[in-house]
Amino acid sequence: MYFHLILTDECNLCCTYCRAKAFLDLEESEGERALKIDEDLPIDLAFDLELLYQFLKKDPDPTLTFYGGEPLMRADLVETIVRNCPGQRFMMQTNGLLLDRLSPAVVNRFSTILVSLDGTKELTDANRGAGVYDRVMKNVRTIRANGYTGELIARMTVTESTRIVDAVRHLASNPDYAFSSIHWQVDANFAGDYALREFRDWATRDYNPGIRTLVSYWVNQMAETGTVLKWYPFLDPMEDLLRGKKSRLRCGSGYANYSIMTDGNIGPCPVMIGMSRYYVGHISDADPKNLPTVSIGNECRTCSILDFCGGRCLYSNITQPWGEEERQLVCGTVQNLHDALHEALPRVRELIRTRKISLQDFAHEKFNGCEIIP
Ligand code: SF4
Ligand code: SF4
Repeated sequence: MYFHLILTDECNLCCTYCRAKAFLDLEESEGERALKIDEDLPIDLAFDLELLYQFLKKDPDPTLTFYGGEPLMRADLVETIVRNCPGQRFMMQTNGLLLDRLSPAVVNRFSTILVSLDGTKELTDANRGAGVYDRVMKNVRTIRANGYTGELIARMTVTESTRIVDAVRHLASNPDYAFSSIHWQVDANFAGDYALREFRDWATRDYNPGIRTLVSYWVNQMAETGTVLKWYPFLDPMEDLLRGKKSRLRCGSGYANYSIMTDGNIGPCPVMIGMSRYYVGHISDADPKNLPTVSIGNECRTCSILDFCGGRCLYSNITQPWGEEERQLVCGTVQNLHDALHEALPRVRELIRTRKISLQDFAHEKFNGCEIIP
């Protein structure tokens, strides 16, 4: 089983699409207003770590992903847990600024590290703060130089400021960047700001056509170099198309991937912090092998591409942050991705048949913090 461990709600950044939205006077959706959030949840992890170790011991194959806020605000806890935890597989989602707080011996124990960047230096610094890009890249180069050989995923949040083709190609093209893989997630939760945004224009003029350009480039790279680039929004669904597999929610939340809150309660997703109605147990007495599932509902259940999409996001599916227009736009981006990958499928099959690439080239770690459907 996969578990996100929320170490702290504190963060050392205030990104435009994340914490900075708290300073805008935005209206919550009906679904969000109806949610009961546990206001007493501690800001930092506040349970005996022995409880965590005993809980994980009951799982024959646990994977622990450190999450925040910014998890490296509590680098001390990361060091302690990696050195003492019974599990052997560790992952982390970090903004990368404090990676130098961890000892190389601990960093090198991680199988996967997701580092948030938004593409180019200009865009990353505009969204995340001046100088962030250079500091993160310095840390990324340092951990590689210190012997980190695990998967390093550049994770972008994409908004109307993102030219998706340029951003992905930028991160993919420079060998100095040392990233093994790329993932991106569209900032489409809207959080009451849809009227202030130009999402429709951007999705129609830039993002959706850009995805088609990138899929073409991705398949051309297979043909020309025999390499299947690890671009998660393409890689995971394409592998399923090739194997003829249907997918549940691709991030695994609520059935393969759970989140341990700072008080030890277990929720289905790391974003559903304090959403106690959806908690499935507590680490003190839950059995990690038999946690209740939390399933996708609402309009997704009758969607014609549910087997491809999986429902995109449990959190959105529950909180229903969208009106009908917004929902159609977001789901339109999924349909566009579905269509682009389906159109590329015969060519990919042919490349496998002629042994230019193999099906094994699509192998990847499932549930590694990539949401997959952007
Ligand atoms: S495309 Fe939209 S409605 Fe269909 S499964 Fe995905 S999120 Fe649900
Ligand atoms: S995609 Fe949605 S349900 Fe999955 S981890 Fe992200 S916020 Fe949670």
